[in-house]
Amino acid sequence: MDDCLFCKIARGVVPSRKIFEDGELFAFHDVAPQAPVHFLVIPKRHIANVMEAGGADEALLGRLLGTAASLAKELGLEEGGGRFVVNCKADGGQTVDHLHIHVLGGRSLRWPPG
Ligand code: 5GP
Ligand code: ZN
Repeated sequence: MDDCLFCKIARGVVPSRKIFEDGELFAFHDVAPQAPVHFLVIPKRHIANVMEAGGADEALLGRLLGTAASLAKELGLEEGGGRFVVNCKADGGQTVDHLHIHVLGGRSLRWPPG
């Protein structure tokens, strides 16, 4: 999508601190980190949110979570763990309408979130 911020980040039109990229996925540090480690993993293809993903996207969703976990380990979260979050639409607090998974770690995180 031409006017989508995360589509632009995935294309490199908007700069980001890239962590990882392959044919389907792009990972980058969050611009406003809420923990010592806070990065996002997105599909390069525009999907507005997790509920918009269809049956044909199941493998992609699996790769999104698996890649998030692999990168979390690479970034030092293996011992302490962290949180993997997918916000969806208004009540979920989603502010960028392009599917993304947050990975946060490096400090103790409270539950439930505010
Ligand atoms: P949401 O609230 O939609 O789940 O999360 C969107 C996330 O994207 C927020 O944590 C926000 O800080 C991050 N974000 C928004 N704009 C940018 C940007 O231009 N660059 C980067 N790297 N992160 C962004
Ligand atoms: Zn998009």
